[in-house]
Amino acid sequence: MPDRPTLFWFRDDLRLADNPGLAAAQGSGQPVILAYILDDLSPGVRPIGAASRWWLDKSLRALGERIAAKGGRLILRRGAARTELANLVVETNASAVRWSRRYGPAREIDARIEADMTAGGVRVETFNASLLVEPVQMTAASGAGYKVFTPFWRALQARIDLSPHAIEPGKFATTDPSLRSDALDSWELHPVNPDWSASIAEAFEPGELAARRRLRTFLGTIDGYAESRNRPDLSGVSRLSPHLRFGEIGPADVWRAAKAAEEAENADPADIAKFLSELGWRDFSHHLLYHDPEMSRLCWRRDFEDMAWRTPAPADLSAWKEGRTGYPIVDAGMRQLWATGWMHNRVRMITASFLTKDLLAHWRIGEEWFWDTLVDADEANNAAGWQWVAGTGADASPYFRVFNPSLQGETFDPEGEYVRSWVPELAGLPSKFIHRPWEASAPVLAQAGVELGATYPRPIIDHAFARRRALGVYGVAGKGFSLEGKLH
Ligand code: FAD
Repeated sequence: MPDRPTLFWFRDDLRLADNPGLAAAQGSGQPVILAYILDDLSPGVRPIGAASRWWLDKSLRALGERIAAKGGRLILRRGAARTELANLVVETNASAVRWSRRYGPAREIDARIEADMTAGGVRVETFNASLLVEPVQMTAASGAGYKVFTPFWRALQARIDLSPHAIEPGKFATTDPSLRSDALDSWELHPVNPDWSASIAEAFEPGELAARRRLRTFLGTIDGYAESRNRPDLSGVSRLSPHLRFGEIGPADVWRAAKAAEEAENADPADIAKFLSELGWRDFSHHLLYHDPEMSRLCWRRDFEDMAWRTPAPADLSAWKEGRTGYPIVDAGMRQLWATGWMHNRVRMITASFLTKDLLAHWRIGEEWFWDTLVDADEANNAAGWQWVAGTGADASPYFRVFNPSLQGETFDPEGEYVRSWVPELAGLPSKFIHRPWEASAPVLAQAGVELGATYPRPIIDHAFARRRALGVYGVAGKGFSLEGKLH
């Protein structure tokens, strides 16, 4: 029945190019209905955080405009995906539905929808638009999933076989104007009272075209990435993470572009290799989540759940969230996060170590804060990142690695420029003291206009003490004991 339309359901793939499901829908020759469902009602769905809502709003706007420019319309619905998609199929009499696969807990929802559709005689076709190699194709020798990155990465590179870039549709069929669509504004994804988003909008531009520009610009300046990626004071990284999170660009296109830059001899192979391995870490996180869908709530190594985590004092937790711990690199990172919705990877590790090791708070508390404040908040990467630092995850940093915030600052922000830009009240300090202001003499502090405890806090905890305490608690937990109540 050539006149019956086919439906393409956008999810974490908000792009027209290199979207194989969309290309297949368009290639079917049937009129294509394009839909996005804001699903905050399905059981088990974790509502996205405030910064991600901001991003989603802009990304859908950009996608809607691109679709409209090609004669089509993006239909917006809100509710449980299972109900809304069924409604759309009935309303449009669609004969087929296509979507890009998901790998976290949401795949249970997708399985139920697929069963419903198939039972109702509607064809379902699903595609990979989000990973380099899907978890089902990545089985370790034991028959289970991989638990360590290096063999995973080796196997991935051996198995990778990207399908050709799917060309974006040139023109869309007009959609029946009577088909109901929510107004994007009615979803209230953009913050009001207060609208805190201006500094995020200065730092990022959501949307597929902006993502492609970002990739191009980054590949043009990738020289030195293998080293500079660790330096928050330099602009050495791609900042593609929110674009990848929302699927405004897919990892396959990023891979192809990086390889092309290498082949054209526009980039050092070592920098390209390092960059591609970061995409590998992204795949690895999704692989872990696929095999442990509870990973964003529970320790991947479940024995750590019983550890004597401390409930942080409300004042300490606020100091961490607001960038007032008295450790300049931690405070700079937390302020960068609050202002821009993004934080440099090295500083994510330092701030996460501070919360989980120095304050001994459960990593879940930090994961939830990042979930709300990151524009790239991602169920797989966020949980894997936190658990890597906390030492509770697969192939995690060993529990006895406790980042020393001052040394980390001195190594990766040697002149203190990153701290100066986010903690301006310390800007006048000489580099020697910028990461340890409490060691500066009274005249040095006075000359820099710093009054500890007044213009900038003293450290909320002594790092040497906190390190010893963490080693004790973690060491015991690793052996399966709990010291609950005995620790102080
Ligand atoms: P680049 O260095 O340019 O890397 C390119 C891409 O590779 C990134 O865009 C990202 O998609 C991927 N990537 C890079 N590093 C990692 C990594 N360590 N793990 C997985 N993928 C990676 N990343 C998220 O996308 N969402 C999160 O919610 C998230 N939470 C994190 C929480 C903690 C505590 C930690 C330590 C890391 C977290 N990361 C998260 C990983 C990493 O910090 C970001 O992906 C990276 O900083 C994004 O910057 P970029 O795009 O400039 O990275």
